[in-house]
Amino acid sequence: MQGFRTIIEPFRIKSVEPLRLTTKEEREERLRAAGYNLFALHSEDVMVDLLTDSGTGAMSAAQWAALQRGDESYAGSPSFYRFEAAVKELFELKHVIPTHQGRAAEKILFGVAAGPGKIVPNNTHFDTTRANVEATGAKAVDLVIAEGKQPSARHPFKGNMDLARLERVLSDEGRERVPLVMVTVTNNSGGGQPVSLENLRGVREICDRHDVPLFLDACRFAENAWFIHEREPAEAGRPVKDIVREMGRLVDGMTMSAKKDGLANIGGWLALDDDAWAERARNVLILTEGFPTYGGLAGRDLDAIAQGLTEVVRHDYLRYRIRSTQYLGEAIAKLGVPIVEPVGGHAVYLDARAMLPHVPPLAYPGQAIATALYLEGGVRGCEIGTVMFGLAPDGSESPAAMDLVRLAIPRRTYTQSHIDFVVEVVERVAAGASELRGLRIVEQPAALRHFSAKFEPLS
Ligand SMILES: *Cc1c(COP(=O)(O)O)cnc(C)c1O
Repeated sequence: MQGFRTIIEPFRIKSVEPLRLTTKEEREERLRAAGYNLFALHSEDVMVDLLTDSGTGAMSAAQWAALQRGDESYAGSPSFYRFEAAVKELFELKHVIPTHQGRAAEKILFGVAAGPGKIVPNNTHFDTTRANVEATGAKAVDLVIAEGKQPSARHPFKGNMDLARLERVLSDEGRERVPLVMVTVTNNSGGGQPVSLENLRGVREICDRHDVPLFLDACRFAENAWFIHEREPAEAGRPVKDIVREMGRLVDGMTMSAKKDGLANIGGWLALDDDAWAERARNVLILTEGFPTYGGLAGRDLDAIAQGLTEVVRHDYLRYRIRSTQYLGEAIAKLGVPIVEPVGGHAVYLDARAMLPHVPPLAYPGQAIATALYLEGGVRGCEIGTVMFGLAPDGSESPAAMDLVRLAIPRRTYTQSHIDFVVEVVERVAAGASELRGLRIVEQPAALRHFSAKFEPLS
């Protein structure tokens, strides 16, 4: 539907899930009962849930049909072979090892490859990836280009790896200390920003010179390939599937969460070429996830993923997906509300610190905006700022680099009118911003406090 102003969703709705419409009084009470922590809400009390795009998407009719085809044999299920073939259709890697989600693949990979004294470079480690690297005693280093760390810097591929810094790390440390290099597509922790094919080829070339394997954190591989299709002049017009296959040929392995571009509600995999690592990975898999032909998933889940992988590389789907995320970002920016630019693939990030200059970071401006969005219109986003990153292991507190609120868009789940409603809610919250106060924490655990801390609004 190019040439038209209106983005139409490239699907129609066969089965509906009612949204419970709530009143402001009701939301006030729920929010208080949840200690002003949106993770503590019952999702039935949320009207538009933009907490995450992970596993929250809608499956297609073909995926629901695939669930019925699922074969629950313990070993050698045809569902596994369909899953394996679907992965290999996109990524030509020798061993495909299913896991229950992405972090399980990470835990197994780094258990096999990393360890004390090792260093793993990435453009930006996602939080579970960093935690799994560090849990083995290794060091996780982020080498994204400088533009990738500036919210308002405009660059078509803000997720790119800084090749000069990567070269330096590999020259200084060598293959003895660097077991593998990883590239995250799209760069989730950096705002869902893409990596260019040219940059990935550059990383490959450096890895080859130092004889170090290259892995993808591939969670949003299709969204990344769409950005390449749209923004990389040398790749203009090239089919996304073809771009994905080249991304696959450039790497020696990958970890994947099928809850993102697998278009499924659960699942993931580790895929790699190296026989020795694969054997060790399968041995761990049997201990922690399950037999290598199901890896912690039901056969039906494997079939849903196999079908999802054929749908996610379709241009009509990806054009709608990326365009509809941009639609939300553009509408919010037009209100004069500061956001991270350019808009990434799966989410829009509000710059809460800039929206609330009168609220200091240690009074959690991100949490103030996130709770206000819920109160105003039942919209649930996610604070990504000082609540999430401000508490050091020694108990001291300092402001995070940014105070953002992420509005993540579940795949194929909300229509344009839901999104228009979200824009209206953001508009109202922004209009009342000068009245908003920060919060203080009244109860928190020692680590990962954003999930369970309790707050109180400052008077
Ligand atoms: C979601 C995600 C993961 C972890 O996957 P889970 O399925 O949530 O365990 C790893 N890396 C990135 C970039 C992700 O977005």
